[in-house]
Amino acid sequence: MNQGGTVQHGRRDAITSASQAMAAYPDAADKSSLRRNNLGVVLRHLREHGAQSRTRIASEVGLPKATVSVLVTELIQRGLAREGELDRAGAVGRPRRMVELDGPSICGMGAEIGVDHVRVVALNLRGDVVLDDRLALDLPTLSPEGAIAQVGGLVRAGLRALAERGVRTVGVTLATQGTVDTTTGTVGVATNLGWHDVHVARELRTHLDGDAPPVLVENDAECGALAEYLAAPTPDIRELVYVTGGIGVGGASISDGKLLRGSEFGHMRLDRRDRPCACGRTGCWEVAVGLQAFLDAAADSGDRVHDRSVDLTERLDELLARADRGDARTLAALDEIADSLALGLGVLADVLNPPRIVLGGYFAYFGGYLLDEVQRSLDARKISPTSERILVTASTLGLSNAARGGAQLTLERIFHNPTAVPPRTEGAGLAVTGN
Ligand SMILES: [Zn+2]
Repeated sequence: MNQGGTVQHGRRDAITSASQAMAAYPDAADKSSLRRNNLGVVLRHLREHGAQSRTRIASEVGLPKATVSVLVTELIQRGLAREGELDRAGAVGRPRRMVELDGPSICGMGAEIGVDHVRVVALNLRGDVVLDDRLALDLPTLSPEGAIAQVGGLVRAGLRALAERGVRTVGVTLATQGTVDTTTGTVGVATNLGWHDVHVARELRTHLDGDAPPVLVENDAECGALAEYLAAPTPDIRELVYVTGGIGVGGASISDGKLLRGSEFGHMRLDRRDRPCACGRTGCWEVAVGLQAFLDAAADSGDRVHDRSVDLTERLDELLARADRGDARTLAALDEIADSLALGLGVLADVLNPPRIVLGGYFAYFGGYLLDEVQRSLDARKISPTSERILVTASTLGLSNAARGGAQLTLERIFHNPTAVPPRTEGAGLAVTGN
């Protein structure tokens, strides 16, 4: 599992391009927004290019050196940047002090509500994992309030643990299944959780301390897609489709570097047996390729791999061990999943034509058994020998990357508005301005 979290240079330019465009044409009358934008430009520049002298930053971002010096001073006061080594490379005259991203003491938190677990991940400003906690739960047996209380307890404990280590958490982004209204923090419908019109952000706040940072809510597959995009090994690719397998099958696409919201990949009508789906329709793709379909095909109902009180990782490990031993039933179940998976990915390939499809969730876990078959099927569907090959890969970020994507979205807020982190003062508390 990739725990480093180091992002390839250039990847984030795509995500931040809209804000950079804004920075180039600020409202001249609004000096504070100009300053805020420019602080973001310098901070993102340090993230992309590493330690640099003020002179070099000024010439590369196209701002006067005096302005950059003022901006860097403010970033240092806010604990976001720091003085680094002397820049001796190619220097004429006196060597200059480099400036670099600081931020081991600042982090963004992501939390995830899955069908069988809740998880929190915190990443510091450099993208390193500083906290990763999870709890196995059978969420559909809980009320929405009960489920949110569980994740609330994990978030509260995480925030306190980080505060004790002197780490400031600038926000929490909760990744959840279902249709999410990000402006109100409400889940409209989450079929696999049985949720309808749940005000998740408001409910979560009731479980946090009064000085807790702002809480945002996002769709889990969209957070996962963002995490995959930022971690992708090929920085030149700006298009990606992400499909994740759990009890539900979710996904999202990144097009021209931007996250497209609101996809419902799991409910395309692709189940050859037209079985009923939790969404009320029949024949949905997730009925054919979701985790339940795999478990049902692989084991009888009394088998411990069906026991939701057991952590999913343990149950999947057991099934992987059976596959590795050549257990005929497990292998037949994987063949069936690969076949249905290829069917849906073929549709996505035709509609979206991405250069890369990343599989997450349990699909990634069984990548060794699924990828070849799916790739072969997509290759066979190429209309002309000269058309681009769509490469299918497995996520390297682990079973639940949505929490990680949520933490990344939280940090994006700081990279776009560094003034959300208050200046450090002697003996300052851990409160962060919310907006
Ligand atoms: Zn459905």
